[in-house]
Amino acid sequence: MSAEQESIFIGIEIEEPAASDPELARKLEEVCPVSIFEATDSGTEIIASRLDECVLCGLCVEAAPAGAVTIVKKYEG
Ligand code: SF4
Repeated sequence: MSAEQESIFIGIEIEEPAASDPELARKLEEVCPVSIFEATDSGTEIIASRLDECVLCGLCVEAAPAGAVTIVKKYEG
């Protein structure tokens, strides 16, 4: 199962096996300026209540293996 949490404006999806990688989880927790990711022993938790704080900086996408993290914009313009 992939780690996916949705909110009103932004959805973030982390594909397996990246979502269950504790090392990547720590990296994501470190890079995100608005603390959307929380590292646990079993991988990355996405804090749903913080998703709309995402500033679309792309640091999480860069920190993860290619294609592992996807940010979905749920609005136009
Ligand atoms: S794009 Fe930036 S602000 Fe948004 S979740 Fe990724 S690291 Fe956090």
